[in-house]
Amino acid sequence: MYPVRLWSVRHAKGLNTFYRAFEKALIALHPVWNRIGYEKLEKPFETAERVTKGFLFDCQMCGQCALSSTGMSCPMNCPKSLRNGPCGGVRENGHCEVKPEMKCVWVQAWDGAARMGLKADSGSKILDVQRTVDHRLKGKSSWLRVVRIAKGLKDQAGNKPKPPAAKPGATKDLAAVSASVQAKKEGQAA
Ligand code: SF4
Repeated sequence: MYPVRLWSVRHAKGLNTFYRAFEKALIALHPVWNRIGYEKLEKPFETAERVTKGFLFDCQMCGQCALSSTGMSCPMNCPKSLRNGPCGGVRENGHCEVKPEMKCVWVQAWDGAARMGLKADSGSKILDVQRTVDHRLKGKSSWLRVVRIAKGLKDQAGNKPKPPAAKPGATKDLAAVSASVQAKKEGQAA
């Protein structure tokens, strides 16, 4: 739901804090999940994720969630499905060039990241280059995938992703990008 999606970005910091605790709990419960069986858990987790994240973020169930790196703005709501952005087509009012009635998902992402604290680890994750979408994961639970990866297991598509690499010079890059987004926002306000 569009207004709720915008609310989530405005409350990105609190939602991210909650998610980090939730993620830790999910990972800690790995022995339980393992005992039940990850395959059996897929459907109930997928349903719970579809309902909660669908309501809060208009989640499209890509199965490889990037919310904590995109200021709680789901990149799959970008009409171009860009996993890194914004593109060069943002309108002067900060809206999307494809859907003029919609605020740009990536301008929102930068807004959410700023609320999470751009100089903090959480906010600066927006500088991580997101990989292209693996469509084999579409419809799968990204919550279970997070646990699988944390425990060194293969994900639902048979991948064994490595943890994200360190970002040397991130703070410097961040200052430049942040200034650019700020300038864009000031343009919107004018
Ligand atoms: S990034 Fe993927 S899993 Fe996360 S909210 Fe968007 S569609 Fe859903």
